Amino acid sequence: MLAIGIDIGGTKIVGGIVDEQGNMIRSVERATEAEKGKAYLLENLERLTEELLAETSADAIGIGSAGRIDVHEGTVYYATPNLPDWTGVRLKQHMVDRFGIPTAVDNDVNAAGIGEMWLGAGKRYSSVVCLTLGTGVAAAVFVNREIVRGHHWSAGEIGHMILYPKGKRCNCGQWGCMEQYCSGTALFKTYNEICGKHAVSSGKQFFALLQSGDGIARQVLDAFTDDLAIAMVSLCNIYDPEVFIIGGGLIETQSYWWDAMLEKIGRYANEAVRRPVVLPARFKNQAGLLGAAKLAFDELTKQ
Ligand SMILES: [Zn+2]
Repeated sequence: MLAIGIDIGGTKIVGGIVDEQGNMIRSVERATEAEKGKAYLLENLERLTEELLAETSADAIGIGSAGRIDVHEGTVYYATPNLPDWTGVRLKQHMVDRFGIPTAVDNDVNAAGIGEMWLGAGKRYSSVVCLTLGTGVAAAVFVNREIVRGHHWSAGEIGHMILYPKGKRCNCGQWGCMEQYCSGTALFKTYNEICGKHAVSSGKQFFALLQSGDGIARQVLDAFTDDLAIAMVSLCNIYDPEVFIIGGGLIETQSYWWDAMLEKIGRYANEAVRRPVVLPARFKNQAGLLGAAKLAFDELTKQ
């Protein structure tokens, strides 16, 4: 059997045809261009699916989309303005009507987590917190290999766990969210705040400064590993995971912060919190697509 896995990201949509062992038969991608609106995005999604189906048929479709997803209905429960008008979209029904193939939909970060649990770093574990550190901070939490979804499809929004009650304003409306301290964006923004000027505009530039021995960059990274370790200790107390899997753009720079993070978890955790295993994600960009394909196979077993 073959499934189509599709990952709708902010900048591109990637899709692939995947077999039951997770081998990618074929993959395609298109620019998301979300700013063009809902109708355009749906059309974009259809074109990508048509392209994939042009040479091979598939038994099911799985989609990982940004936003909070009602996985029973396959609808978008809530999406931020990054995907304009996406809230309320009946994604599953739309694809079933168009292609006549069973379709499953989930959140993109959940799909990436499912990809890691299926074929990646989480393969052998049952209780796992997958953390994605990139432009923002996102997560998927698994207990006994089941994803924790929450009553409003909003569980695992770890990036919006408050670390500093009177801290920095977050784009979610709260103050002091973890995302404002532990993301790639946070690193260069904090650096600029301390310098009092717009010195760097990307994580890449920030790490170049760190590499060159810049004292302020060192200070910012120290605060980052502190905050990350503190957040992970809290997550240990809440979920008691067997393992953390860390992915996202920041994992490319893990040599700068990994050891400090581990050392600080040990320093801040009480004795009852056993030191968790922390692993880097196996897949860089394909976890979401593979996880979406897994959702599609799972949908078939339900039918
Ligand atoms: Zn927030």
